[in-house]
Amino acid sequence: MVPLRPLQSTIPKVPEGVEQGLYRISPPLIKKSPSGGFWAVNFAVGCLHACPFCYADYFNKEYPRRGLEGLVSREWGTYFAAPRNIGEAIDKTPWHRWRGVEVFMSTMHDPYLPQVAWIARRILKRALPSGVRLRILTRSTLILRDLDILSAYPHRVMIGVSIATMEPGLYRLIEPRAPPPHKRLLVLGEAASRGIPTWASVAPILPPNPLRPDPYKDLLEIARALSNLRVAEVHGESLHPRGDNLRLLAKRLGAPINIKGWDARAERIFYKAMEEYGLKAQWYR
Ligand code: SF4
Repeated sequence: MVPLRPLQSTIPKVPEGVEQGLYRISPPLIKKSPSGGFWAVNFAVGCLHACPFCYADYFNKEYPRRGLEGLVSREWGTYFAAPRNIGEAIDKTPWHRWRGVEVFMSTMHDPYLPQVAWIARRILKRALPSGVRLRILTRSTLILRDLDILSAYPHRVMIGVSIATMEPGLYRLIEPRAPPPHKRLLVLGEAASRGIPTWASVAPILPPNPLRPDPYKDLLEIARALSNLRVAEVHGESLHPRGDNLRLLAKRLGAPINIKGWDARAERIFYKAMEEYGLKAQWYR
């Protein structure tokens, strides 16, 4: 039996240079996501994968949680706050109210950051028996530890990973603290082998840049890898400006980002690459 961690979270260990905090989270844990009109469960402020293109920073700065205004004013990837009362919030969430409803886990951070993966497990244990349908999205491999629970509810879960590129020179810069894409793909293979439906989010698709001049070739490589893994669906999304993300991305790449006219081209080559490998594809504008 996995030992239970205390219900009150303590300050988690974070990478050097990251300022951390605690905040009070109000139940229910399932809320409409600030990044879209769908239901989502979020349980951290900040994401230590520190992808410079991320949209979450914009929402954290635009709608700061009370008491975290100073913390979230720092640069993306250098702040992180965990809920101090997560046990209470899990207990007070009427999970059954979302029976049969698809809930996204998560939209404002990776649910399987090492600092909060234990919370994700607690949530699975309450949400899934209550009938909630969870669409999980992660760049982490820690979800593998929860396949024991997830495989008991294959009709209520979809395990997804995000892949922005397969180009090593690029992913090391734009997903600096996440496991490399080929390890995330292993998550999909392992989940499928346990009978759990899987999906992938190919996002964000960046315009051509010196590290990856041919995005279509990159997309073909992603599609080929996904087609071998029996993913049920693939979502695609272009790069959009949100807050400071384009400046951070350009700084990381050491090159300007030109998104003019890119959305339409990205959509076209995304569908073309996915069709090439017979994948069910959906574009998000
Ligand atoms: S893993 Fe997702 S939430 Fe975390 S920084 Fe990257 S894009 Fe943002």
